[in-house]
Amino acid sequence: MLPVIALLGRPNVGKSTLFNRLTRTRDALVADFPGLTRDRQYGIGRIGPRPYVVVDTGGISGGDGIQALSEQQVRVAIGEADQLLFLVDTRDGTTPGDIEIAAELRRTGKPVTLVANKVDHLDWNLAAAELHQLGLGDPQPIAAIQGRGVSALMTRVLEALPAAEDAEPTEEDQAAIRVAVVGRPNAGKSTLINRLLGEERVVVFDSPGTTRDSIEIPFAIGERHYKLIDTAGMRRRARINEPVEHFSVVKTLQAIEACHVAILVLDAHAGIGEQDATLAAHLIDSGRALVVAVNKWDGLTPDARAALKSAIERRLPFLGFAEQHLISALHGSGVGLLLEAADRAYESAMRTLPTPLLTRLLEDAVQEHSPPLVHGRRIKLRYAHQGGRNPPIIVIHGNQTEALPESYQRYLIKRLRDALRLQGTPLRLELKSGV
Ligand code: GDP
Ligand code: GDP
Repeated sequence: MLPVIALLGRPNVGKSTLFNRLTRTRDALVADFPGLTRDRQYGIGRIGPRPYVVVDTGGISGGDGIQALSEQQVRVAIGEADQLLFLVDTRDGTTPGDIEIAAELRRTGKPVTLVANKVDHLDWNLAAAELHQLGLGDPQPIAAIQGRGVSALMTRVLEALPAAEDAEPTEEDQAAIRVAVVGRPNAGKSTLINRLLGEERVVVFDSPGTTRDSIEIPFAIGERHYKLIDTAGMRRRARINEPVEHFSVVKTLQAIEACHVAILVLDAHAGIGEQDATLAAHLIDSGRALVVAVNKWDGLTPDARAALKSAIERRLPFLGFAEQHLISALHGSGVGLLLEAADRAYESAMRTLPTPLLTRLLEDAVQEHSPPLVHGRRIKLRYAHQGGRNPPIIVIHGNQTEALPESYQRYLIKRLRDALRLQGTPLRLELKSGV
């Protein structure tokens, strides 16, 4: 599971600036989902040697010093974190608020890194000497706004974390499709997991090293092996009606990152809310293959069903690539088809796409609808090859590709997706300009 890094500090020290820098997506990649809003507080960080979950407590804490830390949300974030990054505004020197926060953070017993932000335009040696009085060791200087020092900071922070204890994966582990069931609280995740595992064809087994605490549940249908990544905490509950653990965005993000295919559970009775849209945005960002399960389809009037379908299209338009299944986890209808849909999505996400085929499809697309002129010269798209799997990335080489309009990129994505019958997986383009 990904390590969790929390950003803490007084208001205005630059937490959200650093957050944005850490979580910015690979800019060379283009996804086919324009106008996506991103969540401010939780993200996957990709600057530094390996990915991690980053939590910005800045949007939550209103107060200064101790007051900010005592907020419930901040305490939850600290509790979930493996590493705390304590940011200070170096231009302010050391304020009483900083001293209070430093003392409080030391008491948590968690590893703390002191981050001296805004070191642009100042004498670092003087500033560093003053920051030592916080008792948190050597401060790590950054200028979040320019990105200076950020990569060095994350390298240091991540190297200090204990290495993930990767047991040698067995052959079965490697062959298993990892499926995460995600959705907001009460959507029916636990009911669905119980239902899936209770199906007659399904054999749940304990693999060596699986503890009761493990959040992966291995099972098989015939020869096909799966691992269910359980964000609902089912495994730790003896009975279905034991209280659900606190819903955790961190656990959900970790599960998304660890899976091959996510099943997003929507609640037909509650409608489509902000949390669903936020989760969907994270799913898109992750590039994971996806199946949408519209749960609690039972007992809805025809009018309510129609209204819900249009709400899904309107509020989650960028999930159009995923198969959508109308299910009732409670009664079992539709549930049997979900794993087959997950298999198809997995197959699409992992497929090998030969260069000659991709290049031919590119030529066909260009012939039918040629790219626009830029400064009187036509953009040339010459050949394509696969640049990655899960999600499939298609690298296109040509001239002036940096000027290729987004609408044309969406056209290409749609053409390629249809021709290759890529179902249930996002598809990304990477454009390269030759000499
Ligand atoms: P937060 O309240 O801790 O999340 O702080 P913000 O990220 O909103 O930043 C507060 C202000 O500090 C904004 O105006 C930022 O542009 C500015 N800021 C952030 N990082 C830097 C930096 O490295 N140098 C300078 N000069 N300003 C910065
Ligand atoms: P979780 O928080 O996502 O794990 O949700 P639960 O599985 O605990 O379900 C929340 C509530 O929704 C429970 O009362 C379930 O009985 C109910 N529920 C789950 N699936 C369905 C369904 O398909 N139809 C109906 N009517 N209720 C359901």
